[in-house]
Amino acid sequence: MPVVLFSGNPEKRSLYAPELTRAADEEGLSATIHMDPSDVAPEAVDYLIFDGDGPVKDFAPYTKLKAILNLWAGVEAVMRCDPPENLPVVRMVEAGLSEGMRDYVVGHVLRHHLDIDRYIGAEPIAEWELTFPPLARDRTVGVLGLGVLGADCAAHLARHGFETLGWSRSAKRVEGVRCLSGAEGLDQIIAESEILALLLPHTPETRRVLNAERIAKMPDGACLVNAGRGALIDHDALLAALDAGKIRHATMDVFDVEPLPPDHPYWAYPRVTVTPHIASVTRPATASDSIMRQIARGEAGKSFENTVDRTLGY
Ligand code: NAP
Repeated sequence: MPVVLFSGNPEKRSLYAPELTRAADEEGLSATIHMDPSDVAPEAVDYLIFDGDGPVKDFAPYTKLKAILNLWAGVEAVMRCDPPENLPVVRMVEAGLSEGMRDYVVGHVLRHHLDIDRYIGAEPIAEWELTFPPLARDRTVGVLGLGVLGADCAAHLARHGFETLGWSRSAKRVEGVRCLSGAEGLDQIIAESEILALLLPHTPETRRVLNAERIAKMPDGACLVNAGRGALIDHDALLAALDAGKIRHATMDVFDVEPLPPDHPYWAYPRVTVTPHIASVTRPATASDSIMRQIARGEAGKSFENTVDRTLGY
């Protein structure tokens, strides 16, 4: 019988306890689930559910672990704790996270595409003017990162009718999406995207991928939706580009420092929308399903899905 430890932020324990038990039952797993590290000897734990805000930061006493199951899609926090080299670290991939990200990205892309702020912003236009609102098929939207979340968003944007480009490290196929990779692909997606969504992980290679030079190469009046990580963007360069009108609007969910400090210029900037890292959140029911599915795989001797590649860092 596998021993599972939920090392979650204490506020999450009461939310996850019933869901983990339910999901284990549904997988046909008879697991012993502990919700507090002080309730179980570390060397007895087979699977550790890791939360960046949770109590366990040192894996050394957990000598019998078969896997670490990360509660978050981003893996920076768990990798900072230096998990043993050969121990699988499983990323959170779950339906709620994907669906939430899709709503956020598609919602903000549509807002910028239709220039909805012109009618409902702080100073609505209040004029009866005849315009021809743009059609999705005449708008090019780019998605940096074609992983679990990015590919799903790109596919939905394409299905909606946008001319959709996507960019990833390795070559990908996503229905309806012009998939690009490598340095040339990056140049192309930067040059063509009138609305650019960022869904890359933070690694040494992706840090400040959107720098002053690349922002300068974007179409005039382009909009950004950053739901990946704050480190992907050079923020001084972005503020300069907003001032210059090069970038029309930036929707920002992630920042270098979170919570975003109260004196940060983004809070007061009229053409920046700040959301508090809520683009998508891990939901207890669907996350528990995902966790128990992986534990069942481990117990059946199968390999874990969605494991972190240590050399790539995501
Ligand atoms: P994922 O499945 O690991 O996909 C990452 C994508 O980025 C892959 O397509 C990968 O290319 C690409 N990539 C990585 N390094 C690259 C590089 N150097 N050059 C080009 N492409 C590169 O991740 P995911 O589940 O889609 O999540 C993406 C990120 O979203 C997470 O890492 C996290 O930071 C963020 N996130 C934010 C929220 C929020 O609420 N704001 C919620 C969840 C996640 P390959 O396909 O070739 O590997």
